[in-house]
Amino acid sequence: MFGVVGCGSVAGAGCATAGGDVREGFEPTEPSGVDEDGNGSGDGDGSGSAAAKPDQPGCAQDAYTETLPTSASLSGLTFSPTKANDYLLSALELRYPLGKAIVEGGLTSSLAKTQGNCIDRFLSDRSSAASVLRQATTVVHECGHFYDLGEATGGDAAYVIRPDDLTFTCKSGDTTSRGGKTFARSLIRQDAHYDKRKACPAGTAARGCDMYAEIYLNGSPTDAKFDSGDQGYSFVLEEAAQYVNSLATALAFEDAYTSSRASERDGILTFLWYIERYLAMARASYPAAYALISEDPCWRQATLSVWDRGWFYLRATEGLSNLGIDDAAIEPLVTDPELTAEIDALRELECK
Ligand SMILES: [Zn+2]
Repeated sequence: MFGVVGCGSVAGAGCATAGGDVREGFEPTEPSGVDEDGNGSGDGDGSGSAAAKPDQPGCAQDAYTETLPTSASLSGLTFSPTKANDYLLSALELRYPLGKAIVEGGLTSSLAKTQGNCIDRFLSDRSSAASVLRQATTVVHECGHFYDLGEATGGDAAYVIRPDDLTFTCKSGDTTSRGGKTFARSLIRQDAHYDKRKACPAGTAARGCDMYAEIYLNGSPTDAKFDSGDQGYSFVLEEAAQYVNSLATALAFEDAYTSSRASERDGILTFLWYIERYLAMARASYPAAYALISEDPCWRQATLSVWDRGWFYLRATEGLSNLGIDDAAIEPLVTDPELTAEIDALRELECK
């Protein structure tokens, strides 16, 4: 989520609070560690029907690949609370170099001039190495927002998925009232899928309800107050892109979650579900928005790339029950054929 960082100071960004709690950041007050039991996993990878073309952006499907995080030993690193930032960067370098590149992109982002150092802002508990490693997901996610927002100009949206070779800068993706061609993401709460997983009450997280909805799909686009949910499609996709980074980083430091659970599988599954629902509502009710997303190769490729990369990491973390909380309940919503048809439709247009 774009919270304090984007609020009023960055074109295209929004501002939001987390569940009524004015949190210094983009994020919901989601549990990064929850001591409850549960099972993960399920079937379905949401692949499209056309043949996979791994080298074509957006057309890789299950053949999407990138260098997975390693379990390289961190025993050569020295931790101290005063040098926690360096420790985190060194750990990322050893386990997940792409994550380090994303953090560094956030640190050197033009956004840092006004919003500060993204590690300092989001690394709150520096008391131990394990604690720092468990917050790596948040740091990479939030620095990823800094990176993307810093690369965006005017009303464009930037997605730096892999800094070296997979980036997009797409136009007009925010709402019509915010200079773009899409509609407020909060409106998908009015669709027929909402009842399958309703919003958890604000400030709570529980199984069987959507703990992200009150954070990202909140408010009304027609009232005078700005809410996170007022933002358009470009921000649905931005959040999804960063939840993929969250999950990848959780995989890199899975050994730090021995006595706690992360919600990173829940996060990306929820945003894949939002993407599908947004596309379905756009196609049914907002023809100009759907025309933008389905006819502009940039939006198609960016959407499909985030989708494929999301599933790449969901497959890589399948069965890692400490990286999800209620993910087994969310996954069947995402793989509902009625909704995966929306992805298939984009795939058909882009990859035929
Ligand atoms: Zn976010």
